[in-house]
Amino acid sequence: MYNTTPEGHIINLDRARCALAAALQSGEVEMFLQPKFSLTERRIIGAEALTRWKKQDGGYALPSEFIPVLEECGNIVELDYYIYMMALSVIKKWEIEGRNLLPISVNFSRAHLKDDDFAKKVIKISDYYGVARNLVGIEITETILHDDNKKLISDLATLQKAGFKISIDDFGTGYSSLDLLLEAPVDVVKIDKKFVKGIGHSRTKRDYLEGIAHLVGIAQKDIIFEGVETERQASVILELGYNKAQGFLFDRPVSVKEFEYKYLSFDNFSKLMA
Ligand code: C2E
Ligand code: MG
Ligand code: MG
Repeated sequence: MYNTTPEGHIINLDRARCALAAALQSGEVEMFLQPKFSLTERRIIGAEALTRWKKQDGGYALPSEFIPVLEECGNIVELDYYIYMMALSVIKKWEIEGRNLLPISVNFSRAHLKDDDFAKKVIKISDYYGVARNLVGIEITETILHDDNKKLISDLATLQKAGFKISIDDFGTGYSSLDLLLEAPVDVVKIDKKFVKGIGHSRTKRDYLEGIAHLVGIAQKDIIFEGVETERQASVILELGYNKAQGFLFDRPVSVKEFEYKYLSFDNFSKLMA
């Protein structure tokens, strides 16, 4: 079966499905982690799981190169659960190793809205891994808020009640109303990187970002700024009275091994052995 992507590429859906199945089996699909930082303390407060597909030449393909194809052939659901399970197993491993625990958030695509049992499955899987739900975040992009609101709101409400932290990702790219945001069972709003770009040298951009963050604050949501790349941007965010950020200034998404080496001490282990 063939299909055409919005960019006009013709894809063989069966071949794409098989390629993902094989890649999951062989471990070619990996979970990378990018830290989230507290600006006042300059310390890590959590991480986001981001998928990477290992290429033959040893490099990695970025999500923009394969997620649209997986969305087209319906396999994105499988990938999301795979990354979710990797995140859960890594948190469990940290717990067993006596490392300091950090929450990880995972991206879920709009395709899950078609599944009546989405919330139930997410809960069941985390219970299977025995991971505390407050250590798991669920990121949903803002554009999904338009798709099937009732179903989405009810899924998010179930998950939030169960103890997961719900984030609206890429806020500002999906034109959702403040009304919708106010009523949505959401804990965190991630302000899209396009609003952070330029705040270091443009008063207008800084005022614009301040306005958006103020509106989100009215909805009483926690705020994280995405795409923070420079010290100047970080200081502007601090001056505006906000504290949480993610971006290349702190680190790029890195492999689990590198992440553990850089960010996770064995403090609890040392305490246990003392
Ligand atoms: P996202 O969830 O908004 O993730 C943040 C993206 O911004 C990541 O791109 C990250 O590498 C990039 N980023 C972080 N800091 C900076 C910065 O300072 N500057 C710039 N220019 N970019 C920064 P990445 O890893 O290429 O992922 C792109 C998107 O693909 C993600 O955006 C997310 O929507 C999607 N994605 C990634 N992994 C998954 C997954 O497992 N499932 C699903 N459904 N979507 C995923
Ligand atoms: Mg995200
Ligand atoms: Mg984002």
